[in-house]
Amino acid sequence: MSNTELPNAETGLPSDAEERRAIPPVICYPNETLPKPDLPRYLAARETAQKTDEVVVAPRQAACFRVAAGSFFRITSVEGAQVGDLNLWNDADLSERFFSGKTRALHGTHVTAGERLWSTLPHLRPMATIVADSLGWYGIDSYGGSVHDVIGTRCDPYTGNLLGGGHYHHCCHSNLTRALADELNLSLADAERHVHDVLNVFMCTGFTRDTGQYFMKASPVRPGDYLEFFAEIDLLGALSACPGGDCGSEHTSDSAACYPLLVEVFTPESTALDGWQSPARNGYDGSHGRS
Ligand SMILES: [Zn+2]
Repeated sequence: MSNTELPNAETGLPSDAEERRAIPPVICYPNETLPKPDLPRYLAARETAQKTDEVVVAPRQAACFRVAAGSFFRITSVEGAQVGDLNLWNDADLSERFFSGKTRALHGTHVTAGERLWSTLPHLRPMATIVADSLGWYGIDSYGGSVHDVIGTRCDPYTGNLLGGGHYHHCCHSNLTRALADELNLSLADAERHVHDVLNVFMCTGFTRDTGQYFMKASPVRPGDYLEFFAEIDLLGALSACPGGDCGSEHTSDSAACYPLLVEVFTPESTALDGWQSPARNGYDGSHGRS
């Protein structure tokens, strides 16, 4: 071993620490080969669409909704700045659900128009495509924050109990659990295991540069702002109006001002998507190397 490989006695750092830190990163999943959504076609179909359903999500509660493949759904801020926690399932098979981690790996920490919400393995296909985002202008702010994140999980009473004790019942996790239980006539325990990491609609988040901690800041959303999706498969959705409100101060309590969220479903004319089909499940043969 040469002296240059020994850690510096004062700093404890290897002599080539800066050199190693200076290695440039590479993108884990270059996404140029991702199947691209046919956005012009979706938007042309949207022009023909009529509103066919509407659900208002009460503050600190969640509600379910269904969207047929080929229809659109829009989440709108009404009355005041409010963040929403979104779960999506294949309406015919709850085991296929939104995969926040892989969506993050493929598109980045926050999603916007033109990007897609992907489903869990072994399905790994687009469940929904974002077709419009009125907060698309926000970009990445000077803190490294952006909106509509796939880095958070969902506020939940277990973490609340871990960090502060107590039993708070209106975290998004519990709201989504109750909504799914009511929608499918399941016990709370049966519903809870289907609740998963969310798309944080309208939430403004990032990681601190110095400590790498997950942060939130007051959402830039204002009444009238919306995020709209094209349903690639038949969807069951659940949306929670987070007890954090605009998530500018705290969650897991009733202290923040909270507002409703509106979910609207729009269905295009029957011929508008002639020949279009839901994406196929992932093409991997599933053998995992054994025949
Ligand atoms: Zn929440």
